[in-house]
Amino acid sequence: MKFENSESFARDLDERDPLKAYRDQFYIPKQKNGEDEFYFCGNSLGLQPTSCQRYLQQELEKWQELGVKGHMRGEFPWMHHHEFLVDDLAMIVGAQPQEVVPMNSLTTNLHLMMVSFYRPSASRYKILIEDHAFPSDQYAAMSQIKFHGFEEDALIRLKPKPGKQLLSHEDWKEVLDREGEQIALVLLPGVQYYTGQVCPMKEVTAYAQNRGSMVGIDLAHAVGNIPLSLHDWDVDFAVWCHYKYLNSGPGAVGGCFVHKKHHTDPLMHRFAGWWGHDKSTRFKMGDTFIPSASAEAWQLSNPPILSVAAIRASMQVFREVGGIDPLRKKSVDLTSFLEFLLQTRLSGKLGIVSPRDPSQRGCQLSIELQANPANSKQIFGFLLQNGVTADWREPNVMRVAPVPLYNRFMDVYRFVELLEEGVSNVRS
Ligand SMILES: *Cc1c(COP(=O)(O)O)cnc(C)c1O
Repeated sequence: MKFENSESFARDLDERDPLKAYRDQFYIPKQKNGEDEFYFCGNSLGLQPTSCQRYLQQELEKWQELGVKGHMRGEFPWMHHHEFLVDDLAMIVGAQPQEVVPMNSLTTNLHLMMVSFYRPSASRYKILIEDHAFPSDQYAAMSQIKFHGFEEDALIRLKPKPGKQLLSHEDWKEVLDREGEQIALVLLPGVQYYTGQVCPMKEVTAYAQNRGSMVGIDLAHAVGNIPLSLHDWDVDFAVWCHYKYLNSGPGAVGGCFVHKKHHTDPLMHRFAGWWGHDKSTRFKMGDTFIPSASAEAWQLSNPPILSVAAIRASMQVFREVGGIDPLRKKSVDLTSFLEFLLQTRLSGKLGIVSPRDPSQRGCQLSIELQANPANSKQIFGFLLQNGVTADWREPNVMRVAPVPLYNRFMDVYRFVELLEEGVSNVRS
């Protein structure tokens, strides 16, 4: 799309946006003056669908009226509650419904997946992860390594080439060529949380598996943001959270994908709980664990219903909008408009860390202010005071995520205007 640097152009884009009505299905936090905030933190905590309260209320009332009978009765019996999500989640991550399950939280799921898919031997014991991976992922990987009796050298942190901030496809291939025989597990970031870069998941998965390693993906910043095809890419497992782009509330239950090819492996190691037991005989309460022939086998406990209900509310919006493709289409325009305005109005005053090719990034742009840290912090403070909610990473990077479900082109336009004002205030 060809962009123009003007407010009327931004307003016109909003007017013509086929998804513009969806903003009304979310609560937008307010500024002190009563106006909507310019909210760009959907990559950290997605906003609340207006329907969410009703979904939760329904379950609370059911508990009031039915007590334990709620497990079997009502429109969404608790016994099967998570099953009402799997079709939508499968659509969002590109999986078959029996390959996905909402459960636990992201880091817990990562550990449970590593119990099954990180099975180190004396010669093949390493985990490959990207440098600057989200801390929780690093801690989880390192603690698994130590749990198995290996040392720090077993964690390979893949760094970009000197002078670069982004990893290239080649970087992944090189390390796999060099150390592939020793790598037991590759942990890919679907979208890197700091840079917003999309990982070439399909290619790296095939490359790593050809060298004998398992591949898992952390989709925290990818799910609900970019199209995914986990099943066709043959990914072994994936984990994600529902509170970022999937708008299901702080600390929402997480998600997990296990490829079908692993579902009936009789030698599979896993930590087991009663909710993973084959459903047809679960309530016979037998002494022997018989796993479900699906990703549900990895469940431990019966799930927190209120959280699952909030995810249902969110999924309803994704279903109505027609899935990821229409969102992605708007997202590319929205973020490209942000990039265009930054380049046009603030050139030389900031750098963009995220990839410049829209196909290699999600909705987020990571913006590096070219000012000293104190001034940068002051600029960010000015934005906060003027109704912008974005994310700050020391020493001078701002992560800005325009979300196609509820952000407008005008939000992006105002943001750049305010940033320009902030930058010139500090300079003068
Ligand atoms: C947000 C995020 C997490 C958060 O983990 P929780 O277990 O949900 O607290 C983990 N990893 C990545 C990459 C994230 O972006």
